Amino acid sequence: MTAGVAPRTSGDGWTYCAQGHKHWGIHGAAGLLARHRDPAGAEWVLLQHRASWSHHGGTWGIPGGARDLGESAEDAARREVSEESDLEVVGIDAAGEFVDDHGGWTYTTVALWLPVMPPVAVRGAESVEFAWTPVAGLGDVPLHPGFAASWPAVRGVGLAG
Ligand SMILES: [Zn+2]
Repeated sequence: MTAGVAPRTSGDGWTYCAQGHKHWGIHGAAGLLARHRDPAGAEWVLLQHRASWSHHGGTWGIPGGARDLGESAEDAARREVSEESDLEVVGIDAAGEFVDDHGGWTYTTVALWLPVMPPVAVRGAESVEFAWTPVAGLGDVPLHPGFAASWPAVRGVGLAG
């Protein structure tokens, strides 16, 4: 008997929540909210411009995707951001999570703070670009409807109390 690493069991696929929405990720989904506070005190978040062919294509949200079977939300968020961008978050602890529970389906936002705002390049085909965006200007951005709906709650995640 050998102890091995369990194969990855993908959560890729569409499902419906109790509210009747169609969602990507049969085991739920997770995304990474990368935050930064500049020397003047203004807050910034890293937004992903989603490819036009994707669900709610053309809108701006946060990098993320389907959780694998048994995968924690934080692990999924870190995996997805590394698949979709070159942002380096190894060694940066998560500051908090917000679980948006739709009934039978959840989206977990994992927040962490970066000390700087590095340029972020796209990996893969799901994104057009990444942009650091001032929180004060989010109202002017065509946001992904899920991100927009959760933002009032997500905004407080990982803020120092
Ligand atoms: Zn839903």
